[in-house]
Formats: sequence, structure tokens, C-alpha cells
Amino acid sequence: MNLAQTDPKIAELIRLEQQRQESTLELIASENHVSTAVLEAAGTVLTNKYAEGYPGARYYGGCGFYDQIENLAIDRAKQLFGCGFANVQPHSGANANLSAFMAMMQPGDRFISLNLASGGHLSHGMKLNTSAIFYKPDHYELDPKTEQIDFNSVRAKAKELKPKMILCGYSAYARTIDFAKFREIADEVGALVMADIAHIAGLVATGTHPSPFPHAHVVTTTTHKTLRGPRGGLILTNDPDLAKAINRSVFPGTQGGPLMHIIAAKAVAFGEALRPEFKTYCTQIIKNAKALAARLQQHGYRLVSGGTDNHLMLIDLRARNESLTGADAEKALEAAGIITNKNGVPNDPRPPKVTSGLRLGAPAVTTRGLKEADMTKVADFLDAALIGKSDPAVLEKIRKEVAEFCKKFPMPH
Ligand SMILES: *Cc1c(COP(=O)(O)O)cnc(C)c1O
Repeated sequence: MNLAQTDPKIAELIRLEQQRQESTLELIASENHVSTAVLEAAGTVLTNKYAEGYPGARYYGGCGFYDQIENLAIDRAKQLFGCGFANVQPHSGANANLSAFMAMMQPGDRFISLNLASGGHLSHGMKLNTSAIFYKPDHYELDPKTEQIDFNSVRAKAKELKPKMILCGYSAYARTIDFAKFREIADEVGALVMADIAHIAGLVATGTHPSPFPHAHVVTTTTHKTLRGPRGGLILTNDPDLAKAINRSVFPGTQGGPLMHIIAAKAVAFGEALRPEFKTYCTQIIKNAKALAARLQQHGYRLVSGGTDNHLMLIDLRARNESLTGADAEKALEAAGIITNKNGVPNDPRPPKVTSGLRLGAPAVTTRGLKEADMTKVADFLDAALIGKSDPAVLEKIRKEVAEFCKKFPMPH
């Protein structure tokens, strides 16, 4: 029996969601469209079985093929990131971070990171997250002029607090991360460096962003952003002792049975990322982000830090229209078929549910085949929608134009 017959309600909602994805421009920086091969692996009988433990050392019988699948995922991840160890079991990026924290620190230990409001992730010490409940976070700052990482502040916090770990890698940061500089400071105070490359993993894997190795002691990432795999997490290291601690902290530390259908889909995605076409893709993401950024600046938008080096940008909407909030912009753009997320800008006077900024990224539209000239058109759609934000007829007209435009760029099939 297929889904449409056994559960027509869910089948219909999935169909509508597919249609929504096909007819809109996905500019959320943390999202992407996976290949049909990845989708196929994720939707298999591999969801049926427990495989607690690791290849060759499971707590359930019948895991022979699972061992081979997980070993392939591990080998490909190591090859992709040029490191000696990979744990492919974390269910998500936040889970990977929790396990990495457990491997590097004891409860109550101190770490420093960039806070959520400045571009960090909630799993980097936001007060309601386990990272702040079980550990002691403190934060280094952005330079208020350049809006880039202020290494004087990193060094000052490190010297003052002597943290066990220094965390770099962000969710809303448009500039290249200097991992070597973090390591230099960590070595001065005897701290470990953790790099969370969730957003830039695809760029790192293809050398289009510098690698955190050999500088970081532990690297975590999601697999579903620029890396274009299924939703999930991954932990990497070159240190054999940390490797053992990471395996323990993933299972049994924070998780039970691994999602083996997702691990198979990760292996497929890593295989895709090892091919030369994936480097071409990541190079195009960066070109597309720069083209989008340049056109938005021509329209009078201010970009935090003045531009982008990677796949994303943060718009400070106030320069274009003082009264325009991130929340209003997100809503108007969605009505026009352009999907984005509101995001605070550094020192945003508006609360997190309102904000003065929008975060945009190029990974998903690049997967659909948009090139630089198309990104210029996307910026023009976006500006027209924000100018016409109070007129439903204008937004509806743009939505139709966007849907027509999207037909030229099919989703992976
Ligand atoms: C997206 C993201 C994560 C979390 O990923 P989830 O899979 O949503 O838990 C962690 N760290 C950073 C920097 C991210 O951008």
C-alpha cells in the first residue's frame, strides 16, 4: 500500500510542500535541496532496526549490513574533511555539539563563544540550552566597526577566564573564519578549540573556505546545510583520546540507537560531495552570494560587515527603510514567494521576534541552478516586494512572477 492510499491527508500535505518548494525561492541560509539519491536512501527499510553501538561492536544481532554502511559513511567523512576520525551518529547539529562538549569538558567547566545575538548558535551557550545549563559560557565580541570577530576580545576573555574550550563557527556570520588565530590564542591559555562548521561544511569540504584542521581539536557540523545531505550531525577529530571520548559521549552518553537510514543518506551525500562537481557547486554558491549582495547594496541595503565571503549575508534593513522590521520583511517576502528568515543584527535594538535584519543564503537556489545574473533578478524581486509590502496585489503579482521564474530551475530530480 502506498502513502496516498493509506494516509491521504499526510500524502496531500507532502505534495503541497513539494509544490511550495518548487514554486518559491529558498533563500534561508541553512537550507538546501538534497539529491533524489539522498532522499531514496533516507526512505528505506534501514529505519527498521536498532544498531546501538559502533561497527563491529553492536548491542543487537543482524547488524552486518549496517556495519558496512556506517563504515562507508565514516571513511567518506574522513576523506572529505581530511581527518583521522569521524562519528556519523549525531541526530542533529545541536546533538553533535552536546556530545562534543561532553567529550571536552566536565559539567561546570567554562567555555567562550560568540553569543546568539551576534551570530552564534543557541547550542553555543544560550541560557535555556544544555550548553549553558551544564557548562559556564561567556562570550567574546564582534568589533563594533568592522562587525567581524574581534580577536583582541577573544584573547582578553581567554586570558581573564582561562576557559577549558574556545568555540568558533557561527550561524549568521558572513566572513572567513581564521581558525589558526583561534588556536594561537587557545595555546596561550591551554584551552581546546572547537570549530562548529555547520553552515560552511560544504565550503570546507571543497577547499572554498579554509579547513579548521589542523587548528581545531574537535570539529562539529550539520550535514544538511551547504553539505547538502540529510538532516543530521557529524563530529570529527584527529586526536585519538578525544575520538574515544566522543564515541562514548554520543553513545551511550547522549543517544540510543542511531538513525541508520539517515546514516546511509549521509554516506550518499558524502560520496556526492567527494565528486568534482560538488566543488563547482560550492564555488558557484559563493559567486551567487556575492552577486546577490552586490545588487542589494545597489538597491540601498546595508550588509553587516559590508559584504560576504561565504554563502550567506545579513541585511540591516534600517538603511533602506528605518521603520522596516525583520519580521515584517520575512512575512511580505513569503507572500511574494521568497523564503527568508528574520535575524538580529549586531546590537539590534529590536527584540528577537521582531529584529532589524534578514539573513539570506545562496545554497538552495544554487542547487536549483541559478547563476550570478539570476541572483541579480532575485535581488530585484526582493526589493520590489519590500517596497510593495503593504499592498497584497503587488505581492501577489510578484509571487506569480517568482513562480514562473522558478520553472526555469527545477529541483533535483
Ligand atoms: C544549524 C546549526 C547548528 C544546529 O543544527 P541542528 O541540526 O538544527 O541542531 C549548530 N551549530 C551551528 C553553527 C548551526 O548553524
